[in-house]
Amino acid sequence: MSPAYEPVIGLEIHVQLKTNTKMFCGCELSFGDPPNTHTCPVCLGLPGALPVANARAVHYALLIGLALGCELAPRSIFHRKNYFYPDLPKGYQVSQYDVPICSGGRLGDVRIHRAHLEEDAAKLVHVGASGRIHGADESVVDFNRGGTPLVEIVTEPDVRSAAQAREWLTLLRETLRQLGVSDVNMEEGSLRCDANVSIRPAGSDRLGTKTELKNMNSFRYLERGVEAEIARQVALVEAGGQVEQETLHYDPVSGSLTPLRSKEEAHDYRYFPEPDLVPIVVDEAMVAAARAELPELPAQRAERYERELELSADSARQLAFRADLAAYFEQALQADGAHPQTLANWVTGELVARVGDGDPAASKVAPAALAKLVALLRAKTITPGAAKQVLDALVAEGGDPQAIVEAEGLGALGGGDELDELVQRALAADPDAVAKLKAGNMKAIGPIVGFVMRETKGRADGGEVTRLVREHLKL
Ligand code: ADP
Ligand code: ZN
Ligand code: MG
Repeated sequence: MSPAYEPVIGLEIHVQLKTNTKMFCGCELSFGDPPNTHTCPVCLGLPGALPVANARAVHYALLIGLALGCELAPRSIFHRKNYFYPDLPKGYQVSQYDVPICSGGRLGDVRIHRAHLEEDAAKLVHVGASGRIHGADESVVDFNRGGTPLVEIVTEPDVRSAAQAREWLTLLRETLRQLGVSDVNMEEGSLRCDANVSIRPAGSDRLGTKTELKNMNSFRYLERGVEAEIARQVALVEAGGQVEQETLHYDPVSGSLTPLRSKEEAHDYRYFPEPDLVPIVVDEAMVAAARAELPELPAQRAERYERELELSADSARQLAFRADLAAYFEQALQADGAHPQTLANWVTGELVARVGDGDPAASKVAPAALAKLVALLRAKTITPGAAKQVLDALVAEGGDPQAIVEAEGLGALGGGDELDELVQRALAADPDAVAKLKAGNMKAIGPIVGFVMRETKGRADGGEVTRLVREHLKL
């Protein structure tokens, strides 16, 4: 990106709520059931059917509002957002407009503009020639999804790069997951993100004309799409052109951005208050019930790790953004004399490298065993190389690190005759390195240390080897 321009990004996120039933009727929520098996007059939009708001969805919206530090409206109302589309049988979506249930707030470094309740549209499936049901290419509608409760979260335009958008969305997803309000699966569509993108001259505080990238269905595509759109806008402006306000589709395969439509304005939707629904009235008891259910959330947990355990910001986030890692880490931390930062490094580094996305608690490495391994390492009883071998053994078989060290003879060669002899052999075998070292080129110590490490299978203490080399060569 040209440093002359600063990207400005605001996100709109649709979160499917994990309620038992739909937003305004008693139909069961189902993902993956046969099409059109969960419908009724309300969610099919039949004339005369009357909606009733789902209390659990309201509760979830309050949980989200509290987690994002929003102000909760004591009384908010639903509006009809009118537009025609085959996945919207009523001809309008019931949403919230000027009085949303949650407004203001912040998550991490991004301010929240609002969060409101609404219903999802049905699912349009475009069937190609191969999958056709009746004839040529066609589109079919599955109304199972129609009426699913959604919370739409709208941020302020506070994001400044594609990478930040991705990282922030990860934090939001983790927060929602830990609240237990949604499956937050981007591939399945229970978390969907639109990105609004503009650029402006660096240092300016005015907003440029934005475009909207629709429905990025993975974190990687979101990042790539935003990056591509920033590049497109910069190239356009540098060539003397102007960004048009429009909605774009990003194709992750070709990397192309194609206009879907010019942006509609609020007045195009003819918003008006939904006459069939009473206002959502949130009393103190409802807020208290939601507050009582709030767990410690990733952002707060990361802060606590930095403040109380003095972890680096990176480690704190890596742990706090994954509930399973955080729980594992905190359990390992119970061990006597545990060193938080070293432990954190081993959990997020070596352990995750071995168990991947899986919960480490389900592995054979007990948290106490990892703590002990890290303690052995810090006491220099074993070298980092040996510690990795012990961890391999723990992942494979479980057990006690101390016992593995003894059984496998992995204890560090801290000093003593054995190491001294090896260092002498290494020096004798490499007169070239010795000459360089004597001439003051300390880099030449590499092959000497390498020799000793090979001979000891990584059990030698590198610092001790260096000390012995200096001693022998009188450096
Ligand atoms: P619209 O009326 O077009 O929907 P809103 O003002 O409601 O626009 O904002 C929608 C989203 O776009 C919000 O996330 C907001 O932060 C973001 N946004 C608004 N203006 C800009 C801009 N100039 N550049 C980038 N994002 C923007
Ligand atoms: Zn229904
Ligand atoms: Mg808007």
